[in-house]
Amino acid sequence: MRASPSNSLTAKFIKSLWVLACFAENDYNGRQDVQKEETEMISKQMEKLVHGSSVIRAMFEEGKKMAEKYGAENVYDFSLGNPSVEPPEEVKQAMMDVIQEVDPGTLHGYMSNSGFEDVRDRIADHLNRSFDTHFTRDHIIMTVGAAGGLNVILKTLLDPDDEVIVFAPFFGEYNNYVANAGGRVVVVPPDTSTFMPNLEELKKRISQRTKAVLINTPNNPTGVVYSEQTLKDLAAVLEEKQREFGTDIYLISDEPYRELVYGDIEVPYVTKYYNNTIVGYSYSKSLSLPGERIGYLVIPAEAADYEQVAAAANVATRVLGFVNAPSFQQKVIARCVDARVDVAVYDRNRRLLVEKLRNYGYECARPDGAFYLFVKSLEPDDSAFVAKAKEFKLLLVPGSSFACPGYVRIAYCVDHEMILRALPAFEKLAEVYR
Ligand code: PLP
Repeated sequence: MRASPSNSLTAKFIKSLWVLACFAENDYNGRQDVQKEETEMISKQMEKLVHGSSVIRAMFEEGKKMAEKYGAENVYDFSLGNPSVEPPEEVKQAMMDVIQEVDPGTLHGYMSNSGFEDVRDRIADHLNRSFDTHFTRDHIIMTVGAAGGLNVILKTLLDPDDEVIVFAPFFGEYNNYVANAGGRVVVVPPDTSTFMPNLEELKKRISQRTKAVLINTPNNPTGVVYSEQTLKDLAAVLEEKQREFGTDIYLISDEPYRELVYGDIEVPYVTKYYNNTIVGYSYSKSLSLPGERIGYLVIPAEAADYEQVAAAANVATRVLGFVNAPSFQQKVIARCVDARVDVAVYDRNRRLLVEKLRNYGYECARPDGAFYLFVKSLEPDDSAFVAKAKEFKLLLVPGSSFACPGYVRIAYCVDHEMILRALPAFEKLAEVYR
């Protein structure tokens, strides 16, 4: 594989960490020894992960360096999905109230691995009111964000070499989560005309070994929201394949962006369309709390082997080392289950960028949700395009990181003023390709 600038940056960054680590241990005896340490001390598996480390994170680190060099106001960092909107006031107030509570052994203590019962009651009630479902605390497992929840459910379901099908473009971390549980990712190629799941290609990839299909709507990186009809069609394919193979296929719906939708777009609740659905939710984006690491899994009673799956997920939470989701954040969430960030801020960014970028000649998928635009690269090699964009101090993420070369992702969860400052750079970048 050709080394991209961000790969080489990641490599340099990692190398300097090695050198620092060796100095700290007082055993730096020259370059060869450093390399020997590198291969001997960490696992082969981890070595691969370190070298293939997230392009998004590498861009983010590079953005910080560029900001130091050129001044923060002259660098336009659209690389990371880090919410720019403050958490709602009621969430901040709940944090202050909860911290004042005196409840020895409870508030800051261990609890059931699935989380506090009262918190799970509140969440089940919220879901039932919102989506006309019938969940109870027994269907909810509190998790360490969406990432924690996905790792828990994959650990719960997968035997070695079980397959998990994903639709390109997809959040690249899924590769790691599935590998953590010993499974294998099977990728369905994108339908770039709509960026809805390509169901004909899905049919060809489902086999006896398919344990789960993992979807994400509203989608990172495209911003596309799956329509009700798409979910019905997807459910029909899965039902048919379950009958054909005599297996259970779980549909895992990763939904950290559920609340971030614009206009009158609705995000259908997936458990209504397919019994074997498991939902992974997170407050990282809906309440702008990604660093606080809080979310939950929904395992409905209708899911195959529901009781065993829920009990095993409870154990998976512990054996993965999470033990339980953060107790303080659980109690905060219980007080503001209906709170939401102000999506008007993202909508304003979205409208401005879509309008201006289309005027400059860029094409992008219909962005009804999340806070990303997935834009067609102006040259076939998306990494080369990202490198060219960097010359204009624009930091974008190549579509290849989402298994969809030929595109780039723009995260617009940024300060509106930065977008205004970045527009001339986008225009000049487009002019290069005219
Ligand atoms: N899934 C998708 C599609 C995401 O975009 C992200 C984060 O950006 C996650 C999961 C992880 O979310 P969390 O921070 O809640 O673990």
